[in-house]
Amino acid sequence: ILVRELESKPVIVTHPDENIKDVARKLVENNINHIPVVDEKGVLQGIVTSWDIADAVAKGKTSLRDVMTRKVIIAREDEPVEVVARRIDKYDISGLPIVDSNNKVKGIITAEDISRLVGKKM
Ligand code: SAM
Repeated sequence: ILVRELESKPVIVTHPDENIKDVARKLVENNINHIPVVDEKGVLQGIVTSWDIADAVAKGKTSLRDVMTRKVIIAREDEPVEVVARRIDKYDISGLPIVDSNNKVKGIITAEDISRLVGKKM
């Protein structure tokens, strides 16, 4: 099974200048934990999770630029899901943006998506 068969599309994204409070609202309203941060062309700039928002509140940070993670672990549509599962384990993360060869964000894949797949097989 390839990533493209499991990915969530379209993905909810945010921009580096978005207000932390608006990002928090997006997480809650969409019942998600990961939001890729993109520029105006949709190119990946970072990732923000509910954990980062909690950290921002704890430290009194208000700018998304200061809390987003810039070195993002990504996945590609033509990769086997198994390889992505190993990457999730290796880096202790739970969601990976899926990008194309131009680094544009196409979707997202999470540990939950993979668990659901394993659950169906058993
Ligand atoms: N274990 C938890 C989980 O799976 O979500 C949290 C630990 S994880 C180390 C928390 C940090 O990882 C956050 O600062 C977040 O921005 C970052 N992060 C989450 N997904 C990421 C990804 N795909 N690439 C790089 N960093 C990521």
